[in-house]
Amino acid sequence: MSSPPARSLHDLGFSELVAVLAADGVILHHAKVLWRTLHGEGELNLAGRAFLPPLKRWVEKSVGEGKAFFLDAPEVVDEIHSSDGLTRKFLLRLRDGQTIETVLMGYQGRQTVCVSTQAGCAMGCVFCATGQMGFVRHLRPGEIVAQVLHARRVLKTIDPKKRLRNMVLMGMGEPLHNYDSVMLALETISDRRGPGIGPTKIAISTVGVVPSILRLAEEQRPYRLAVSLHGSTEEERAALVPASKRWSLAMLIDACRKYGEITGKRIFFEWTLIAGKNDSPETARRLVELLRGIDAHINLIPLNPTGGFAGTQSESGHEFQKILIAGGFPCTFRQRRGIDVAAGCGMLKAEKRARTGCGL
Ligand code: SAH
Ligand code: SF4
Repeated sequence: MSSPPARSLHDLGFSELVAVLAADGVILHHAKVLWRTLHGEGELNLAGRAFLPPLKRWVEKSVGEGKAFFLDAPEVVDEIHSSDGLTRKFLLRLRDGQTIETVLMGYQGRQTVCVSTQAGCAMGCVFCATGQMGFVRHLRPGEIVAQVLHARRVLKTIDPKKRLRNMVLMGMGEPLHNYDSVMLALETISDRRGPGIGPTKIAISTVGVVPSILRLAEEQRPYRLAVSLHGSTEEERAALVPASKRWSLAMLIDACRKYGEITGKRIFFEWTLIAGKNDSPETARRLVELLRGIDAHINLIPLNPTGGFAGTQSESGHEFQKILIAGGFPCTFRQRRGIDVAAGCGMLKAEKRARTGCGL
């Protein structure tokens, strides 16, 4: 009989890890030690640890190449630093050779990690480098957790006193298209014995997967929600976000209203400003009407130019902002200071592909 395929130890939630060890006769105390070692310390060399004999024996028997479990330890294949030194972007290679981007940002004393949730993305937004690559596969929970552990290790080398306390799911991929793996990963990431990022410091950004937005509300998930809107009419949005043909703007706004009613939480709306596409004063006025009654904060994002689109001139951007503020909505520009090289989502990977001719 062939043995089941190996699994990532980082894929297991706490209760599953406890159950796996218990099935091999290893008691709860050791499971807690292993959990803290893996997720609290981010240790990747379990064989080198001085565990008590029952856990040591289990690790020797079960973890490693050719054994029941492996560790998610992505390899850094490229790394860029912003000129102000506050942002580091990593291109990480997964076990099957796929590459994803993870960003560590350190503005205003706040350390934030931006993670990917898929290799590629199926949603095809026309201004997004990841969308233009197409969908490859979902990331497993362990591959999402591993990005946070990587960022924490890097931060420790920069300044051991700094803590990673914020997380945004705004890297490659659509988090709500990979719902179960993302939720499992976030439970691990927000666990106090693990990375311990507070759930209210975790923002899930979605292009508008309507059923999953409602599910987040019904399941009372404690995270923040950010919705990438980019259009004030069905036509305007559909020209930029093909996914809106499946979940229309009307359905999305309706889901956002329900989300607000059920959770009582504010929703963050993201708006990438693209010259001549969604940056006119009329669009801003329509947006005010569209969002009326929703507890909303609007984040304006300067475009990282890709695919022939141009970013909005700063004057028009500020005019746009003024209209939203006058309409009663808090509205800020996404800070982009320092994210100056291959900055947008998917752009480092696309650039590396162009440089090396590599197909990953
Ligand atoms: N799929 C999710 C999360 C990843 S994209 C989503 O779409 O929300 C994170 C954010 O980056 C989104 O708001 C997206 O619209 C924005 N984005 C993508 N490409 C961009 C670009 N070239 N310039 C500026 N923002 C971009
Ligand atoms: Fe996917 Fe988000 Fe890029 Fe759209 S913006 S293609 S949803 S990653």
